[in-house]
Amino acid sequence: MELITILNYCHRHRGFVYQHARFGPDKNSIEVDVRPREGSAAVCSGCHQPAPGYDHLPERRFEFIPLWGFLVFLLYRMRRVDCRNCGVVVEEVPWSDGKHQLTKAYMLLLARWARKLSWKETAEAFHTSWDKVCDAVEYVVGWGLEHRTLESIRAIGVDEIQYAKGHKYLTLVYQIDQGLTRLLWVGKERTIESFQGFFTVIGEQIAAQIEFVCSDMWRPYLDVIRQKCSQALHILDRFHIVAKMNKALDEVRAAESRKMAQDGHQPLLKKSRWCVLKRKGNLTSQQKFRLRDLLRYNLQTVRAYLLKEDFQHFWEYNSPTWAGMFLDFWCYQTMRSRIEPMKKIARTLRAHRSLLLNYFKAKKQFSSGVVEGLNNKAKVTMRRSYGFRTFRILELALYHSLGKLPKPELTHEFFCPV
Ligand SMILES: [Zn+2]
Repeated sequence: MELITILNYCHRHRGFVYQHARFGPDKNSIEVDVRPREGSAAVCSGCHQPAPGYDHLPERRFEFIPLWGFLVFLLYRMRRVDCRNCGVVVEEVPWSDGKHQLTKAYMLLLARWARKLSWKETAEAFHTSWDKVCDAVEYVVGWGLEHRTLESIRAIGVDEIQYAKGHKYLTLVYQIDQGLTRLLWVGKERTIESFQGFFTVIGEQIAAQIEFVCSDMWRPYLDVIRQKCSQALHILDRFHIVAKMNKALDEVRAAESRKMAQDGHQPLLKKSRWCVLKRKGNLTSQQKFRLRDLLRYNLQTVRAYLLKEDFQHFWEYNSPTWAGMFLDFWCYQTMRSRIEPMKKIARTLRAHRSLLLNYFKAKKQFSSGVVEGLNNKAKVTMRRSYGFRTFRILELALYHSLGKLPKPELTHEFFCPV
C-alpha cells in the first residue's frame, strides 16, 4: 500500500490530487506533491465561488500530521484567481485556512491534545514549537467562536479572576443554564466598559431574553446588569458573601490576636484561624477542643464567629419574606456588636437586601456553586500553563478549555482521546 492511497483515504479533497510522495532532502520528513485535479476550477477565497485562474504563486509547504517519526509536508503552488467580485485574489484550499503553515487537520489534532496536556507538553510530544500549538488553538477557538450559537442563553454568571501579579483582573461571563454551562466571554479588567463588551457581543436580542444573572457585589457589574438586563432577576452570589464573611472574621481574629499579644496575654488565638473559619462539622477533634477553649472567653473573635455561624441559617429559608426578616434581624444584632468588620458586612448586606432575596425568588436554582466551579477550572487552566502571560493567550486558553466550542468536522478521525 502506498502513502498516496492512505492519504486519499483519510484526507481526500475534491478538486485536488496527491501526486508523488518522497523523503525530504534530510530524510527527516516526507514531502507529498499536490496538484489541482484536471479541469477543476479554483475557488475564490473572497466569495467562495469558482473563478478563472490568473497565475501561480511559489510553492508552499503545508505541514500535515507527522507519521512514524517523520514530519509530513504537502507541497502546493497556490493559484491566484481573477474573480468577478473580488478581483485578483489567492484561491481557497480545503486543507488550510490560508493563514497558517499547518494544515487544518493537524491544527485540530494539536488543539485537542492541548486540552489534555499543557501547551508545552503538546509541543514536545509532536516535536513542534509552542508557537505552533498556540496557532492551532487560535484557529480552533476562532472557528468555534464564529460557529457557536448563543440563542439558548437564559442564565448567566459574571465573576472576576485575578491573573498575573498586582491587581490585574479578568471579567469572565458564564452561561449557567441547567442544561449548558460554559464560558461565554473573557474581558480585560473588571470595569463597566469591559463587562459592557459582553453585551455588545451577544447583541440586544439575546440580552433581552436573559432571565437570571448571578454576580458578586462588585459595583461596576451591578451597574451594567441594571442597565443591560433590567428584565432579569439579579441574584447575588452566595459564595462571595460567605467569602466576605470569612475575610471579616479573619480580620477580627488577627486584630484581636495582635492586641492580646501587646497586652501580654497568652497567644490564645494563634493557630486558631482554621477552627474559626471552618464550619463546625468539618473540624478535627483537636480543633474542636481549641474552639471550645476559645468560646469560653468573651472575645470579639468568638462573637464574630457566632454571628457568622448564625448567618448560615439564612440560606436555608424557602420564602423570601422569612429570609428577609431573618436578614433584618441578623443585621440589627450585628450592628450592635461593636465589631467593625462585621458591622461593615451588615451594612453591605442591608444595601443589597433585595438582590440577596432574589436568591429565594429564583428558588435557589442558581446557587453560585456553578460559577464557583467554573472559576476554579479557569484558575486551573491558568496555573497549568506557563507562558500565558499576555491577555490574548490567556483568553485563548480559557475559551479553549471552558468554552465548549463547536469544532470543525473532518471526514476522518485522526485518533485523539479527547
Ligand atoms: Zn470572489
